[in-house]
Amino acid sequence: MFNLVLFGPPGSGKGTQSEKLIQQYGLIHLSTGDLLRKEMKAGTPLGNEAKSLIEKGQLVPDEVVVGMISSALDANAGANGFLFDGFPRTIAQAEALDRLLELKKTAIHKVLFLMVNEEELITRLVGRAKTSGRLDDADPDVQRKRQDVYKNETLPVAGYYQNQDKVERIEGEGSIDEIFDRLRQSIDKAMAEEA
Ligand code: AMP
Repeated sequence: MFNLVLFGPPGSGKGTQSEKLIQQYGLIHLSTGDLLRKEMKAGTPLGNEAKSLIEKGQLVPDEVVVGMISSALDANAGANGFLFDGFPRTIAQAEALDRLLELKKTAIHKVLFLMVNEEELITRLVGRAKTSGRLDDADPDVQRKRQDVYKNETLPVAGYYQNQDKVERIEGEGSIDEIFDRLRQSIDKAMAEEA
């Protein structure tokens, strides 16, 4: 099993690169943002509860996302590995994920951190708002809030994995294929080390 976290601020290209990576490596894509949007669309109680927080750019409670990830891990017991995208977003989530994976006799093997400068992030989110239909992309105040939440609550997660010596920084600017090639090089190396 090979488990990967794709880490980076909102707009750093995690979703785009995840789609390419799961095809290349046959991993199961676990995006808590996608899972929450599915719940919202279906109008479930969980989705309704999450909606107001997401639309304000705030985080959904840890128990909610950890519960979703736990169920998804159980539902994909025979997987080659998982690609976590947009999760973990707090230290508490990272600790919970370590415990869940330990129960399954596995762990996070690599954390790839997409580095993109702030000006470029805002430009990308403004562009994405035109096609994504996401209310949390469209409002500049919500975008700013998401970048603040990222800095205050999510960035420390990089330090958590740094302490486990699992983080590799990847230049996240350039064409989609250039960035994909950089990610691939790093994953191929990490997989060879695990084998
Ligand atoms: P994303 O698609 O990853 O940008 O997530 C969109 C929104 O969903 C975030 O701004 C949060 O409100 C919520 N969300 C997604 N993943 C998480 C998470 N791991 N923890 C808390 N909230 C999350």
